[in-house]
Amino acid sequence: MKYSIIPVTPFQQNCTLIWCEETNKAAVVDPGGDLDRIQARIDEFGVEVEKILLTHAHIDHAGGTHALSSRLGVPIEGPHRGDLFWIEGLDKQSQMFGFPKVESFTPDRWLDDGDVVTVGNQSLQVLHCPGHTPGHVVFYHQQSALALVGDVLFHGSIGRTDFPQGNHQQLIDSIRNKLLPLGDDVAFIPGHGPMSTFGDERRNNPFVSDTRYG
Ligand SMILES: [Zn+2]
Ligand SMILES: [Zn+2]
Repeated sequence: MKYSIIPVTPFQQNCTLIWCEETNKAAVVDPGGDLDRIQARIDEFGVEVEKILLTHAHIDHAGGTHALSSRLGVPIEGPHRGDLFWIEGLDKQSQMFGFPKVESFTPDRWLDDGDVVTVGNQSLQVLHCPGHTPGHVVFYHQQSALALVGDVLFHGSIGRTDFPQGNHQQLIDSIRNKLLPLGDDVAFIPGHGPMSTFGDERRNNPFVSDTRYG
């Protein structure tokens, strides 16, 4: 599986184009906005987008979902149903953060822990990782040792938990019990900032490192 990161919105959210080299089929993960930049990247690689995948429904991740889905005529998979209230509140989020007005949407498929999503011939595991939002999911492609973790984990930090239904301990548990066990060598694309590996975070991230929690 190949990938290309496209930072979008004033929050520089790492929208990611992923695709299957065998079939040229692609998915756009977290199209927060700046659809023209996303479209330019799709054109640059000449891939055929077959779906939109969402890690969670904060506006910088999901704000462009309705527009891109209509433009490309593709279905929306994710996040977990726990983020329904965030999807319903997208209009309010857009006002709060000064984003262009966005339309809400209904995912064609809600995702649960243990589900599998496909992109061409590639399969990604779905891990439900609540804490930053209650319906946050992570996508894991085992063959590439690559995870798309949204705002669960960052290089040197973790997601905010001061939003409605955020939960700090739940977030730590998601990271320690679901992400880090995938293996030290697994690379991840966070929702913001540079990529890292679970091993690097296990060793150096003060929020989840072995030394702090022994
Ligand atoms: Zn978020
Ligand atoms: Zn974000």
